[in-house]
Amino acid sequence: MKYRILGRTGLKVSVIGFGGIPIQRISEEMAGSIINTALDLGINFFDTARGYTDSEAKIGAALKKRRKEAIIATKSMARTRESMAADIQTSLETLGVDYIDLYQLHNVKDEAALEQVLSPNGALAALVEAKKDGVVKHIGITGHIKGVLIEALKTGQMETVQFPFNAVETSGAGELFELANNLEAGIIIMKPLAGGALKNAGAALRFILEYPVTTVIPGMDSLQQIKQNALVGEDQHPLSGDERKELEEEAGSLGNAFCRRCEYCLPCPQGIDIPTVFLLDGYYTRYGLQDWARERYRGLPVKAGSCLECGQCEEKCPYGLSIRRMLADAAARLD
Ligand code: SF4
Ligand code: SF4
Repeated sequence: MKYRILGRTGLKVSVIGFGGIPIQRISEEMAGSIINTALDLGINFFDTARGYTDSEAKIGAALKKRRKEAIIATKSMARTRESMAADIQTSLETLGVDYIDLYQLHNVKDEAALEQVLSPNGALAALVEAKKDGVVKHIGITGHIKGVLIEALKTGQMETVQFPFNAVETSGAGELFELANNLEAGIIIMKPLAGGALKNAGAALRFILEYPVTTVIPGMDSLQQIKQNALVGEDQHPLSGDERKELEEEAGSLGNAFCRRCEYCLPCPQGIDIPTVFLLDGYYTRYGLQDWARERYRGLPVKAGSCLECGQCEEKCPYGLSIRRMLADAAARLD
């Protein structure tokens, strides 16, 4: 396994990390076996979140006897100082650890959210405090909107930045790579397979590792996936001309049917959270998390079925998605 340094955290992380979303759907025993195999194959970076139901608990249980070999990253959607302090405590208890290597502000998606987390009573203040206390070693941020992440990095407070980057979703990444590298912020890449839409995992991962990123964290829930992905981390030979062409063609074919969660389509006058509906639908169709996705969907204040087909969202979507049709399909599955 190859390793890179996670920016100024100084942590030496495997170029292939472990994305903690899919283990929600497997047993604790299976999760333990997968995580231990990952460690045996040199994967040492494990990313989870407060919001991924039992993912923190499964990762914590599996790493109990091998804590020193692992770098644990988690994150919380908390926006206030008080709620972040509570979530840090919950994460420590759920993971069963004395400290967390990296705690991230989760999915900071617009200027207002960024302003809130950076304010004196915002979530960042709780992370800084936890870092002083030694229970959080490093602080990072995650999100989908590159402009917001750039502003966050410019504060100089973020030691890492995590965002989606893959053969389908390259736009705006160059500026973020450059800034992060200039500021020595570690770069963690999520959704390397475009939410499961890219089928050739090996080529998709090697494509990303050609860029100045630190680690790529595909979600993994089988021993076969762990072994295949770990191989990429051992041998990062460049894509061949044919592989590159194939990947570009695949990415091109997804162009009209794949939500990048950029949120340009919002606000919907009916109040439908369009990207979240598509996210949950993706969990349903691509990750096999049917019950989990339906439960989350039930919690949305406005359902996809409330769409009046005004078409405003489609005019704003830079990817030309047929949002009305996609919402109707999602509603049929999730309602
Ligand atoms: S078409 Fe439907 S989802 Fe899109 S903006 Fe109009 S009401 Fe909202
Ligand atoms: S539907 Fe289009 S505009 Fe809305 S989040 Fe997805 S990609 Fe972005």
